[in-house]
Amino acid sequence: MAVKFYNFLIRKKETFKSLRPKQVGFYACGPTVYDYAHIGNLRTYIFEDILKRTLEYNGYKVNLVVNITDVEDKIIRESQKTGKSISDFVKPYEKAFFEDLKKLNIEKAWKYPKATKHIKDMIKLIAALLKNGLAYETGGSVYFDISKFKSYGKLSGLSARSGSAFGGKNQSRIDSDEYDKTSAEDFVLWKVAKNNEPLWDAPFGKGRPGWHIECSAMSMKYLGNTFDIHGGAVDLIFPHHENEIAQSEGATGKTFVKYFIEGEHLSVNGEKMSKSLGNIFNLRDLEAKKFDPLAFRYLSLTAHYRSKLNFTWESLQASQNALEKLREAIIEIKNEQKQHSDILENVRVLKKHLSKEFEKYINDDLDMPRALALLWEIVKSEKLNPKTKYNLIIDFDKVLGLNLGKIKSEKIPVIVLKLVKEREKCRQEKNFTKSDELRKKIESLGWLIDDSPSGPKLKKN
Ligand code: AMP
Ligand code: ZN
Repeated sequence: MAVKFYNFLIRKKETFKSLRPKQVGFYACGPTVYDYAHIGNLRTYIFEDILKRTLEYNGYKVNLVVNITDVEDKIIRESQKTGKSISDFVKPYEKAFFEDLKKLNIEKAWKYPKATKHIKDMIKLIAALLKNGLAYETGGSVYFDISKFKSYGKLSGLSARSGSAFGGKNQSRIDSDEYDKTSAEDFVLWKVAKNNEPLWDAPFGKGRPGWHIECSAMSMKYLGNTFDIHGGAVDLIFPHHENEIAQSEGATGKTFVKYFIEGEHLSVNGEKMSKSLGNIFNLRDLEAKKFDPLAFRYLSLTAHYRSKLNFTWESLQASQNALEKLREAIIEIKNEQKQHSDILENVRVLKKHLSKEFEKYINDDLDMPRALALLWEIVKSEKLNPKTKYNLIIDFDKVLGLNLGKIKSEKIPVIVLKLVKEREKCRQEKNFTKSDELRKKIESLGWLIDDSPSGPKLKKN
């Protein structure tokens, strides 16, 4: 079945075609480790995990590279406040990042390259840009000359909106790593050494890399000059991803990335997360309020990745309740499947149909809300037998990643199963006195029976 994604480069959905048969090179902008990841960052990492799992579900081998930004403006500023070296300062946040991924059941990426270990690759790339006449040196720093790169703005559409900033006349420059402007400027590739800042030797003088060059260097080192997918959230479209394209294509002359897939933001109580509003939460804050990290994963699945997700404590509670209900239902299904095992032909046909439905939803630009609704339909179905239900749930969880295969159910003793069967026979023969006696016996062994339309259900008393 074809997989379709919304490619931000062309601003529409298109069928995904990998550069190499059944292999995907995927780069996702990782954390800037100056603090714990907030729940907005985590929403994006979950969306990228779903994207990877969906491709794997479709038989692709995915080489996912997630960088760790361990040197840039914010890290330097914050580490200086503590008086620690940047490597000591970032260590606990880097460790916390990996702990968060595990708690959210985010699968491991192929590589997690660190910026400080790839300075040579960045210097090489800057040298190529200087050689190609797309960069210039001034005051010991090196800048990218956006007027020389004709397709600057092709991702963000900014060139079309701010034409006056282009055409060779613009020589205004920007030194900060992050900026949010409606007109573009030449941006810094290498920053001249300043007091107390970490620095490295380079042919253009001592200094440190700009943030954008880090991602161009690390992505191409591991995935090649051209690769399939680049991911992140919408805040990175401009300037970060736009600048990555300019740097990479300017240096190699080749297309950098085929598909830019960008997730929408998470907001809190309808507002942007910010320190001044005191609404920046991380996974530890959620856990302190006794929430299961997977309840946050569940919440993330309830909204399409290209829609805004408004976080409230109530919505997280609702997700936690739903996840608990789901787990309870799965325990019941697991118990029931030991009692009924035969699969009828009509169930087989229905199972195939439901699997196709699931594939259709996930392959339609990751429509997780519909995939989740289908999962519930299966859990509640009266037409499917427990074994089929369980197999479908476990299969879907390869993509949903809610750890549904790891739910522990009580082992039903053989004697209880035998008594249940005997009681069913009595009921069919309308021997209700005997069947009541057997019910009492089963209860005395610690199990309750519920006679549902699809057969008896057992629950630990
Ligand atoms: P950072 O650590 O700031 O470099 O961001 C890591 C990832 O989180 C990037 O892909 C960002 O685009 C993404 N991100 C930042 N803020 C939000 C937000 N409010 N909602 C969703 N994703 C975000
Ligand atoms: Zn990046």
